[in-house]
Amino acid sequence: MSNILRNLPSVSQLLESPQLKKMVENINHGVVAEGVRTFLDDLRTQVVDAAGEVPIPTPTEMADRIADWLSNEERPYLRRVINGTGIVLHTGLGRAPLAAEALAAVNENSKSYASVEINLMTGERGQRVKAVERLICELTGAEAAVVTNNNAAATMLTLSAMAAGKEVIVSRGQLIEIGGSYRLPDVMECSGAKLKEVGTTNKTHLADYENAIDPELTGALLKVHPSNFEVIGFTKTISTKELSKLAAKHDLPLIDDIGSGALLDYAQFGLRNEPVASESIRDGADLILFSGDKLIGGPQCGIIAGKKKYVDRILKNPLMRAMRVGKMTLSALHATLSLYRDQEKAKQSIPLLRMLSMPAENLKLRAEKLASLLSAVPCVGSCEAIQEEAMLGGGSLPAQKIPTWCVSITPAGSVDALSAKLRSGTPAVMGRVQQGKLLLDTRTISPAEDLELVKVFETLEA
Ligand SMILES: *Cc1c(COP(=O)(O)O)cnc(C)c1O
Repeated sequence: MSNILRNLPSVSQLLESPQLKKMVENINHGVVAEGVRTFLDDLRTQVVDAAGEVPIPTPTEMADRIADWLSNEERPYLRRVINGTGIVLHTGLGRAPLAAEALAAVNENSKSYASVEINLMTGERGQRVKAVERLICELTGAEAAVVTNNNAAATMLTLSAMAAGKEVIVSRGQLIEIGGSYRLPDVMECSGAKLKEVGTTNKTHLADYENAIDPELTGALLKVHPSNFEVIGFTKTISTKELSKLAAKHDLPLIDDIGSGALLDYAQFGLRNEPVASESIRDGADLILFSGDKLIGGPQCGIIAGKKKYVDRILKNPLMRAMRVGKMTLSALHATLSLYRDQEKAKQSIPLLRMLSMPAENLKLRAEKLASLLSAVPCVGSCEAIQEEAMLGGGSLPAQKIPTWCVSITPAGSVDALSAKLRSGTPAVMGRVQQGKLLLDTRTISPAEDLELVKVFETLEA
């Protein structure tokens, strides 16, 4: 064994190999040398553990393996994914893809300087959010608006500005968790406001809210859209309209976290119960909170819209500076919102709306075409187009399924091995595994990606 260890090539010998010399040129000496050291250390450990039974690669094989491993490590961790999961707003895949108009605006305003906080009419300093505030107000009916990093930030900032040190009344049926890191009670605690729970999980009455209001202690009423679950059966929740009357009677603000922030009626895509921003304002919410990258189909951000006196109070809160967005987000949001001025245009240009409005018949044709092309690829055993159900995801409309068509692939090898190979490609491809088959959902794959997808499969070994 000691003989084997003694005969392993040195780091500097390996670095002399043509493959690794080239990597030193492309990356740098330090990174490649460290990679070689790690590889040799691992090999020594294997030799010691196996008491000499390990086949030792030749120096050329070692250099090849190190070069392969390093080039894999050096690929960007964040890279494009063809989303075949059928989850339209996949948080793990960055939620909504952006419209071409949004990308063009980011490009134009980021490659040079932009009027982020300058009013170009007067030449004076202005509010950062002014660039998009007018549009948000136009689309929601609000008097004023603020943009933050995401809806979690919008919630924390709003609670802090409106009710730090005071109680915020929330129905027990609306104490939500959105993914492990967003839990309303925790966000509330961080903001400095105190949670005052009322009602029960399934029923909360107006009197529950009314009895909990204390002129000294209460800072606000909060309504939260239960985005990712549904309570059915013996239930009661209080409408925004009723709550806003109660809040006004006691001179308290009503904050409505509507979650996904629909700017149009999603019933036209067969999706029900998604609160529309303008309806909440019309029904009397003083402040509404929603995400930019869920149903709006824009960049990751949070939007706070509502009464000017409250928005002014939020703008003065010290957390505002910590949660504000940069010019890339503002540009993408402005361009996305502009598309909503004409709903038909929004449906054609915003990828999310395009995916949702695609007729199933259309998806069927694409799935059949893909199935026939993929059947001929070596790593695919057999392949067929099947009718399935897609999901909105992103914490939206959990119980509602969207009709769709998938390519169902029976791999030549194991389904896990095929999935892993697809994930490691550039672009990466993700599908869903169901009963030993890999399903690729055409609802979330852009038609422009169909042939690219086939090419990715063709590069894989059987
Ligand atoms: C998604 C969601 C949030 C969190 O929004 P992010 O933009 O992910 O921070 C908060 N509240 C509700 C009701 C939501 O649906």
